[in-house]
Amino acid sequence: MFESLSQRLQNALGALRGKGRLTEADIAQAMREVRLALLEADVNFKVVSRFSIRATERCSAAEVLNSLTPAQNVVKVVLDELTDMLGGQTQTLELAQNKHPNVVMLVGLQGSGKTTACAKLAYLLKSQGKRPLLAACDVYRPAAADQLETLGRELDIPVYRGDGHNPLAIATESLAHATSTMRDVVIVDTAGRLHIDDAMMDEMYQLKVALEPDEILMVIDAMIGQDALNVAHAFAEKVDFDGVILSKMDGDARGGAALSVRETTGKPIKFISMGEKPDSLEPLHPDRLARRILGMGDMVSLIESAVKVQQDELREEEAQRLAHADLNLNDFLEMNKQIKKIGGISKFIGALPGGDRALSSGKVDEKIFERMETIIFSMTKEEREKPDCINGRRRARIAAGAGVSVTDVNQLMKKYGETRKMVRKMMPSLQESAEHFKKG
Ligand code: GDP
Repeated sequence: MFESLSQRLQNALGALRGKGRLTEADIAQAMREVRLALLEADVNFKVVSRFSIRATERCSAAEVLNSLTPAQNVVKVVLDELTDMLGGQTQTLELAQNKHPNVVMLVGLQGSGKTTACAKLAYLLKSQGKRPLLAACDVYRPAAADQLETLGRELDIPVYRGDGHNPLAIATESLAHATSTMRDVVIVDTAGRLHIDDAMMDEMYQLKVALEPDEILMVIDAMIGQDALNVAHAFAEKVDFDGVILSKMDGDARGGAALSVRETTGKPIKFISMGEKPDSLEPLHPDRLARRILGMGDMVSLIESAVKVQQDELREEEAQRLAHADLNLNDFLEMNKQIKKIGGISKFIGALPGGDRALSSGKVDEKIFERMETIIFSMTKEEREKPDCINGRRRARIAAGAGVSVTDVNQLMKKYGETRKMVRKMMPSLQESAEHFKKG
């Protein structure tokens, strides 16, 4: 998602670089390109107009035009406005402190990703120390309760199904069940329909009155484009909701719906879902997503994921050795493993400034990492721990063992040498970032 928008915005803004001074005409031209890029990405036209007016006004201000780096200032304005378009601040779930259990109700059309989002949200809350219970109140889609139960079993999160017929009864009983089984938050999966209809709205309204949820989140499929906004409007008028979960953000839609939801409905996007796996639900950080769209990378999220994996797994002695940047080939293997955990090399590169371009040019080959692993597995313990001892003869033996050419082994050793150097250089700033995020 956002690939082509990202490319067009970067081209429009890139054209300003290299110009020492900017005129009003330069700004107008760049803003015209930005406007077209947004419209082409299917962003709602009213949202685009407001964006354009605000951004042009800010870019034409004397302090931008007369600054020493006017092009950078224009990029900053576009970044700020995109961030605002996405809601500005990160918005989290608001669960009342003194309520037991808390209730989060998910609503949305059939197929929007509601049932899977319930499980993903439960998983996220569990990882934050909560004890969720899932309530299966979608009694119309025959497989919904079974699907929720399967997901619950996989994640070790209980599911309340009640009689499987009466959504209102299941919902209210689930609260008592949560209390008696010491569950502190109930996540309610409600019925969807193919289209909005009165019966569905009535049911949602009754559930809302009976459950008094802390949060009602609407699940919107990012792939359905502008239609998503009409659906959200209908829900907002009849049932009202507190925030949005935007699902299927990993798809290849143009992204306009994602950029329009906040301004057209007035409701914040609280979470985005980036895949089918349970851990693919993430809080939306508007500033980080805006940076990604502008090709500036998202190192903050990457470092956060890395620190999380590191906190979970890195042993003290390894941490000590790495702190002194004494990297060996076991660490190299470990890095591979961590990169896979973060989401693979594509995600890693995508988070680097300009990384999205590298990915879309098809130059990134995940298989290289598998080959590297095979080669390292063909080495002895000593060779992995003290790679400097690997001479020409040993390289030939390792190549034969791994079924690759000596050139492949040479390439790996070269990469290892470069990485060791890079880690030595980067270590102070990485440590600083890790400390920063550990402190929260
Ligand atoms: P419901 O009818 O709203 O409950 O929808 P489901 O939760 O059953 O989801 C419908 C389909 O969309 C399922 O095949 C899900 O696996 C898939 N899905 C849900 N969220 C995502 C997502 O973020 N990315 C992708 N690629 N697929 C998703």
